Amino acid sequence: MIIEIFPERCIACGLCRTYNEAFDYDIDGLVCFNNDETRLTIPADSSFMQAEKECPTHAIKIST
Ligand code: SF4
Repeated sequence: MIIEIFPERCIACGLCRTYNEAFDYDIDGLVCFNNDETRLTIPADSSFMQAEKECPTHAIKIST
């Protein structure tokens, strides 16, 4: 699965990290990944799907 983040939509609520610690935050609290990319490719993981579902601003997008 591919996880994309859109920091420009993020409101720094901190929710996504409660589902998976791959979600990190920059100095302004906006979502980022540790690798400084805006995209991760990983095996299927339901915690990321939950984060996508719960993000209030649709700043996380998952595709296969
Ligand atoms: S859940 Fe969405 S709005 Fe909240 S910190 Fe994560 S990406 Fe940003």
